[in-house]
Amino acid sequence: PPRPPAGARASRWLPRLEIGFVLATLVLMTGGWVAERMEQEIPPAWSLYLPAFLTGGFFGVRSSLRSLRRGRIDVDLLMVLAALGAAYVGAPFEGAMLLFLFSLSNVLQSFAMDRTRRAITSLMKLRPDHALVRRGSETELVPIDTLSVGDRVLVRPGENIPLDGIIVEGASEVDQATITGEALPVAKGEGDPVFAATVNQTGALEVRVTRAARDSTIARLIRLVEEAQAQKARTQRFLEKSEQAYAIGVLLLTLGLVAVPLALGGRTFSDVLYRAMTVMVVASPCAIIISTPASILAAIGGAARRGVLFKGGASLEALAKVRVVAFDKTGTLTRGEPEVTDVQAAGHPARATAEASPVEDAVLALAAAVEARSEHPIAQAVVRAARDRGLAVADCQDLRARPGLGVSARVDGRRILVGNARYLKAESSALEPWATTLDAFHRAGRTPVIVAEVENGLVQVLGIVVVADALREDAAAAVADLRRRTWGGQVVMLTGDHPEVAAAIAAAAGVDAFHAELLPEDKVRVVRELRDGGGVAMVGDGINDAPALAAADVGIAMGAAGTDVAMETADVVLMSNDLRKIPFAIDLSHRARRIVIQNLVFALGVILVLLVLALGYRLPLPLGVVGHEGSTVLVCLNGLRLLRTKR
Ligand code: ADP
Ligand code: MG
Repeated sequence: PPRPPAGARASRWLPRLEIGFVLATLVLMTGGWVAERMEQEIPPAWSLYLPAFLTGGFFGVRSSLRSLRRGRIDVDLLMVLAALGAAYVGAPFEGAMLLFLFSLSNVLQSFAMDRTRRAITSLMKLRPDHALVRRGSETELVPIDTLSVGDRVLVRPGENIPLDGIIVEGASEVDQATITGEALPVAKGEGDPVFAATVNQTGALEVRVTRAARDSTIARLIRLVEEAQAQKARTQRFLEKSEQAYAIGVLLLTLGLVAVPLALGGRTFSDVLYRAMTVMVVASPCAIIISTPASILAAIGGAARRGVLFKGGASLEALAKVRVVAFDKTGTLTRGEPEVTDVQAAGHPARATAEASPVEDAVLALAAAVEARSEHPIAQAVVRAARDRGLAVADCQDLRARPGLGVSARVDGRRILVGNARYLKAESSALEPWATTLDAFHRAGRTPVIVAEVENGLVQVLGIVVVADALREDAAAAVADLRRRTWGGQVVMLTGDHPEVAAAIAAAAGVDAFHAELLPEDKVRVVRELRDGGGVAMVGDGINDAPALAAADVGIAMGAAGTDVAMETADVVLMSNDLRKIPFAIDLSHRARRIVIQNLVFALGVILVLLVLALGYRLPLPLGVVGHEGSTVLVCLNGLRLLRTKR
């Protein structure tokens, strides 16, 4: 039967006591068997069988009482009754053996389940307890719990990183496998984030702490995995609901098997009871009940070690049914780190030289003034370009952001709009002279950002800043992989960008279809429409596409290490930006489903065979017990296979 939740068995002596009782039962039961076969029973067999029943039945009785108090009958009760029945009909050895195998299988099951649960918590061991903190010119080794945001810690080569932070000095390679599941170390320099429990390899680093120890990414990752493992898949909920009905059914069947033959006469009471007890044992659904949680828990634990976080068994089940994978473009299929490639000013033709002219710089500086307050990746690219050119960026007031369109603000008293053509189109025909220029950039897969001024309702285009966001190297391969894994399903791209830009990127990535010029609410609508074609997984960065992630059957957030929102919003969270993790996650969900089905079929098959043998062929009770408990343990071990995932 399923074990109580982790909290109930948190104490350390309880599992040990359980193992002790199992061993004691084995010894006492064997002693009883030997004693029974001696000329003179010294000690008498019952004096060994009685304690064997006590040690073997202790935890079963404890759990059935707990259920009874809640008005429920569970399989533990059935086992205890069967053992008592066996003793009553003069087969105490069989009864003791039943209790021994039952408690042994429980210990094995909880061992397997604990291993699964601990698959991920063990990663925490990589986080040092102490950190070398800089206090002025001194350094001091202190427990990490005492550090707070803003403290500076030193990490020497070869040491593990104690807390989440940002590198303020030094450069190194960091092995982040604990968080992202990536095998290769990542090069890091000033300004890059580092995570607790990752391994600093070659360089010395000074890190400014950005999160307290208990909020670090690894700590939250572990918390989320634990929550996910506590959350039940639909199959599991269904099985647990039916356990009650099933247990009552088995009890009634047993009573019937006692009452009917007795009423018909011709058979002894102990004969009838023995067979009824055998039937009760083999018909109990222990293996069926454990089959799903054993598999789901292992899959969730194994995936987390690869940097793929399932928010619960339900997400795992839903992912296995996905037929359509929808990608957000920016930051998902593309790197999400656009670069400014061109700047053009109104009235000044495009020039071939890379050298900046003052009019172009003025356009860029104005755009940067507005974008400085926007979170959008395009905005960051514009601001970075202005900084790289050493431009003075003015302050802005009265910022208005239109998701999917652009932003506007007041700079030096002028109202400046920065965004796409649709942002301006409703209000002006000022873009007409720019049409061919814009088209050319669009077709090249680049996004021109229009910088315009609005005065008394009149729009004047000042210039354009063109940004380009490169496709991720593994995008095309991942898209092809996904198409194969959704059984001829579709891979589509959603974007707020211009249709021509979308077409260029879509062709390069090899997606089946794309939808462009979508506002965030349009993305939700498209996801809903796609759901008519089967389960939809939406992949995004979880920041500006959270509504679409929520609308999909499975929301997958990418590159979540270090971002708060993404880790909370999605159903499946990829800690790294590795697109290959999506086919991996889908594969795992398919394997998990296969193993759940295998387990259910096997468990049911064993029950049916044993039931036929018990009803028709006088199956000995011990053999029934071995078959019943053996299948329960096998089902657990089969589930454990999901912990080991292929690379
Ligand atoms: P995506 O769907 O590709 O993730 P968004 O929905 O965030 O993109 O934005 C869609 C389009 O809106 C962008 O391609 C850009 O033209 C415009 N846009 C949105 N925000 C801004 C901004 N801060 N600055 C300039 N353009 C923006
Ligand atoms: Mg986006």
